[in-house]
Amino acid sequence: MSSKPKLAVSSCLLGQRVRYNGDAAEFRTLTRVWGEYLDLVGVCPEVGIGMGTPRPTIRLVKSDDKVSLVNPKSGEDFTEKMIEFAEVKSDYLVSEGICGFVFKRGSPSCGLERVKVYKDDNPTAQRDGMGLFTKVFTTLYPHIPVIEEGRLTDPLQAEHFLSRVHFFSDWLAIGNEGWTASKIMKFHSENKLFLLSKAPAAKRILGRLIADGCDAGDHPDHIALQYMTTAQSHLTKLTNNGQIAHAMEHVVGRLSVGLTKEDKKEITQLIHDFRKGLLPRSAPLTLLNHHLKKLGVDTPMHSKFISPMPLKMGLMARV
Ligand code: SF4
Repeated sequence: MSSKPKLAVSSCLLGQRVRYNGDAAEFRTLTRVWGEYLDLVGVCPEVGIGMGTPRPTIRLVKSDDKVSLVNPKSGEDFTEKMIEFAEVKSDYLVSEGICGFVFKRGSPSCGLERVKVYKDDNPTAQRDGMGLFTKVFTTLYPHIPVIEEGRLTDPLQAEHFLSRVHFFSDWLAIGNEGWTASKIMKFHSENKLFLLSKAPAAKRILGRLIADGCDAGDHPDHIALQYMTTAQSHLTKLTNNGQIAHAMEHVVGRLSVGLTKEDKKEITQLIHDFRKGLLPRSAPLTLLNHHLKKLGVDTPMHSKFISPMPLKMGLMARV
């Protein structure tokens, strides 16, 4: 398995000229900056079902509560073909070990949210749909992190999403040869601070989920899948400075015996300033990391919290 997390991406975002008009829609930060640390896999569902490039535009149309994917000019219906393709392709991508999916915004095939849906012949659309391919993928595999490229232009959203991808990638690598109860507990234990900083409620819920699953004698593979599905559903919500600062304070609290009064005052002030938005996250984290190393207590739990992805991806300098 590649050490870089495998990320599925709508092909047009990778610069492939597969859009209905023969254009691409390259998302350059992904292809030219983050792409060095990810294994990007392009997927174009419309080309996948045999539509050529260029091709007529298609749209989502709702009639009698059923949403279909149609060519509004000819009336040709692509719904069944797209569902069939999406099921097969999603299974294949997951078997190949993808750790996330970046979808093209607004597309009737790839869009994740607020995609236009036309009601019968009404020329005005409601923006409340999801692309058909994406609908199938997210229904079949709710434990895999997904996002639209538009959200990745915000560094906070990008850092949050790519952290989720790396969290998933670790989970996949550990479970590759089958899960055991002790592997699940170790994974949870090493990710406690990460979860506390990104989705604090999930940390407690996931601990309970593991305990209940083990008590009930559930198969570890089943518990691990439930674990990741629950974790990713909580991680969908963007974290905030308060939650991250709370996780930092948690670390300081455990370090107290090794820190001088001045050390503690200095780090507490930096965390306070970060919480108020006066300093970037890297300011208190760098000092925290320094003390962890100096005291010889840096563990995988700390490193997964402090650097959930390679520093060279450049996101830690922007959050
Ligand atoms: S949005 Fe999806 S279906 Fe449309 S060109 Fe891009 S990859 Fe293909």
